[in-house]
Amino acid sequence: MEFQDGIDSAQASGEDFFVPVDEGREHLVVIGNGMAGCRAVEELLARDAGRYRVTIFGAEPHVNYNRIMLSPVLAGEKTFDEIVINTREWYDSNGIDLVTSDPITAIDRASGTVTARSGRVVHYDRLLIATGSDPFIIPVPGKDLPGVISFRDMQDVDAMLAAAAGGGDAVVIGGGLLGLEAAHGLTLRGMKVTVIHLMPTLMERQLDEAAGWLLKTALEARGQTVLTGADTAEIYGKGKVEGVRLKDGRTIPASLVVMAVGIRPSAGLARDAGLAVGRGIQVDDHMVTSDPRVLAVGECVEHDGNVYGLVAPLWDMCRSLADGLTDRHTGYRGSVTSTKLKVAGLDVFSAGDFSGGSECEDIVLRDAARGVYKRVVLKDNRVVGAVLYGDTADGAWYFDLLRKGEDVSDIRDRLIFGQAYALGASAADPLAAVAVMADDAEICGCNGVTKGQVVGCITAGACSLDAVRATCKASASCGSCTGLVENLLALTLGGEVEAGPKTMCKCTSFTHDDVRREIVAQGMRSIPEVMHKLHWSTPDGCSSCRPALNYYLLCALPGEYVDDQQSRFVNERMHANIQKDGTYSVVPRMWGGLTNPRELRAIADVVEKYDAPMVKVTGGQRLDIFGIKKEDLPAVWADLNAAGMVSGHAYGKSLRTVKTCVGSEWCRFGTQDSTGLGVQIERMTWGSWMPHKFKIAASGCPRNCAEATIKDFGVVCVDSGYELSVGGNGGIKVRATDFLCKVATEQEVLDYCAAFTQLYREEARYLERTAPWIERIGVEYVKQRIVEDDVGREALRARFLYSQSFSQEDPWAERAAGRHADLHQHLEPLAPETLAAAE
Ligand SMILES: Cc1cc2nc3c(=O)[nH]c(=O)nc-3n(C[C@H](O)[C@H](O)[C@H](O)COP(=O)(O)OP(=O)(O)OC[C@H]3O[C@@H](n4cnc5c(N)ncnc54)[C@H](O)[C@@H]3O)c2cc1C
Ligand code: SF4
Repeated sequence: MEFQDGIDSAQASGEDFFVPVDEGREHLVVIGNGMAGCRAVEELLARDAGRYRVTIFGAEPHVNYNRIMLSPVLAGEKTFDEIVINTREWYDSNGIDLVTSDPITAIDRASGTVTARSGRVVHYDRLLIATGSDPFIIPVPGKDLPGVISFRDMQDVDAMLAAAAGGGDAVVIGGGLLGLEAAHGLTLRGMKVTVIHLMPTLMERQLDEAAGWLLKTALEARGQTVLTGADTAEIYGKGKVEGVRLKDGRTIPASLVVMAVGIRPSAGLARDAGLAVGRGIQVDDHMVTSDPRVLAVGECVEHDGNVYGLVAPLWDMCRSLADGLTDRHTGYRGSVTSTKLKVAGLDVFSAGDFSGGSECEDIVLRDAARGVYKRVVLKDNRVVGAVLYGDTADGAWYFDLLRKGEDVSDIRDRLIFGQAYALGASAADPLAAVAVMADDAEICGCNGVTKGQVVGCITAGACSLDAVRATCKASASCGSCTGLVENLLALTLGGEVEAGPKTMCKCTSFTHDDVRREIVAQGMRSIPEVMHKLHWSTPDGCSSCRPALNYYLLCALPGEYVDDQQSRFVNERMHANIQKDGTYSVVPRMWGGLTNPRELRAIADVVEKYDAPMVKVTGGQRLDIFGIKKEDLPAVWADLNAAGMVSGHAYGKSLRTVKTCVGSEWCRFGTQDSTGLGVQIERMTWGSWMPHKFKIAASGCPRNCAEATIKDFGVVCVDSGYELSVGGNGGIKVRATDFLCKVATEQEVLDYCAAFTQLYREEARYLERTAPWIERIGVEYVKQRIVEDDVGREALRARFLYSQSFSQEDPWAERAAGRHADLHQHLEPLAPETLAAAE
């Protein structure tokens, strides 16, 4: 593109560059590639796509992403790719020139140009400033030490992830939304977190005292330390952060300090350019600054004396701005804000003025045992404020009443019980509740989508939740409005709603994916807690859901969740495979298929001593000892253990074998030491629980004697490195692997293997092998996560190794030492999984 070429050459030469006038189109230059800047451009394109030539400058290296979703990225619930709002293709296909990693450093209004840090100068006809906010850093000693960061962008998240990979202590200064999100994410990443908050209650600007207290109690129950009324005196450390000292003298050790005490409109550029700036860049109702050619939008602006720190008002601003730029004359009149948030997986909502006062009346419902608190503040029989904690379903309705200033005298006695009850029995139907919502009522706060827009996209053909998410983005972010969107689907389509994925089992209406997501989001810690919170229809679940829940909790809470043996299939409880005559077969691990005289002797001794009728070499290069009586199992484990052998997990939904060929050490064709590599892989992966059985193989050359291309993870050594492939299966339905990538070193093989294994562990459904999983999600997705996303791969690898640090304990050794002896006494099979093959 000619224009882009111009920019590049200007950058290369360092010369000033003036954009040529393009067919008479005005050039709109946007400073800031964040939520408001990009949304403003989207609104503009929707009104008149060809009207302006658009260039966007971003200080960050990324395309436009959903900043709200940085918290789920930190918590490991989403990847960066999943929070991208507009891809490169979007910019290209709309003819937008995006310049990343190059912040604008000066605006020259006289010449109508902006200058970037690289020295690049660009001419504008209209300029839009959308620079967002700067995090506020409290000026205490030590604030500049390495290890002190804010929580504002992807770079901060990367820094937190890197710090969390080493574990240890973290201090979060600030108990507002951002601080608590950071604390939650770091806790999930394995750090021991202390939150320091100056005020007596958490999130005091959004929650009243009672709700703040409930929140604090819930966070403490999850293992965080929350210090309220705590004032930071200094951050100390030699060369890097070592801890935080409070004014009362207490010290809290920390290798990471996250400062999340507030934000300030980023208005320095505008101020330097001589624009009118108060608390933010001052704008009129069309978002025009004191210079008619310069506009501003987002958190950096001040409108009518107000600055905003949430997305919903930004969407209103962007609409008015785009109207103004296309000669329409609807003005922005300011926003009444409501806050519907998931703080660390806990639902909170607040709107309006809830401080109360002599002229106000409070209606309060408190059910501490259920973790529910609701407070509605009335003035002259009209709702002026609301705080909800735990159950926020009626937030949109209270907010609607507040915005419209409706007289609620008629429903006052029922108001606190929510819309369905307050509007009478007929409205107890959840569909009736959404039916009465106004078209401009906001459904999805994260993406600024109204009821009218959701219904519009459903009537235009989006017949499922996923289709709605893909088209108008409602429910595509934090998910707290999913119920509302589903009700709108049902209301609009009647019986035509497309069925979603199947539920987990007859005990619940949730799918596997829902349950996994909720376990993480709500920080659930045990099977009974999941069943209770997700309203299981059976008291103890069934043989389908119990093992799945046990696995999901194990995967989500490494080192914390205590495995529930009673929720395992009989083979896993007995650490051996039950055979059709009721005896067991026992398979010791042979690392990479290697063995030695001591191991062989121990196996031979066990065979003789316990009269085992058969020993069989399995397809996975191990020896399977058949016909062991149940009562002899502990003694067999003990004897094999004494010879240094550990369980081969031939019975488990876990890593089974790492098959190898002889490789370069012996074979004439071998290009690398595939046996040694196989041993390393097995040492890294053994003991890991999986959604299903998992097999690995390493072949020393493309002759592929270890059959690596029908394994869950396969390595084929070639002259120049290692070819990795995934998703193979040699079982009932044979499937060859998909090629993943080629790497150069053994260390990379290990890294990619760990990352892929963890991705499978975290995202596949229980009892789904890698082959159907990859067919369901597509190998491109796996490549994107493992090959293209270096940071994501590293995070997955780190989570795998962290989890392995707890799971590589040999169950045979534990049982042989007498632990859990009770568990293999009166066992009946949970399910008829009796004929599992031994590898
Ligand atoms: C972790 C986190 C969680 C949040 N959660 C919620 C939530 O749940 N609900 C909610 O409503 N809001 C939430 N917010 C707030 C929300 O993200 C902001 O209100 C919104 O992003 C503001 O949009 P903006 O475009 O004004 O600023 P931003 O999205 O911050 O965009 C500004 C962009 O401008 C760039 N920039 C700055 N200076 C320059 C320059 N000189 N040259 C070029 N580029 C520049 C910045 O790098 C940035 O990319 C959250 C914010 C964070 C950080
Ligand atoms: S795969 Fe290659 S290196 Fe390995 S045994 Fe077969 S021929 Fe030899």
